[in-house]
Amino acid sequence: MTHSSAMEERFCANPHCLVGRWSVTLCSDVNQVWRVISCHDDDPYLVAAPSPLCPCCGDHLLTPFEVEGGFADGRQQEEGPLFEFVRHLR
Ligand SMILES: [Zn+2]
Repeated sequence: MTHSSAMEERFCANPHCLVGRWSVTLCSDVNQVWRVISCHDDDPYLVAAPSPLCPCCGDHLLTPFEVEGGFADGRQQEEGPLFEFVRHLR
């Protein structure tokens, strides 16, 4: 088994997105193709882009670090879309 890249968890911050949580794997360093699977275990999508995009709505997918960074950055935005989005995941 030669898995060169591990599966990463990514989040779509679009409040209107139906999925929100994805698992992405970089398939090819050359062509930058991402294999994106929803948290609902649907069939995987292949996304050709420099960074993974949400197959559902086309938004840039955030890493867990980026999501947390958003919290640390603006505490007054606790009721903002991102907060609603994260609460929606639980
Ligand atoms: Zn989305």
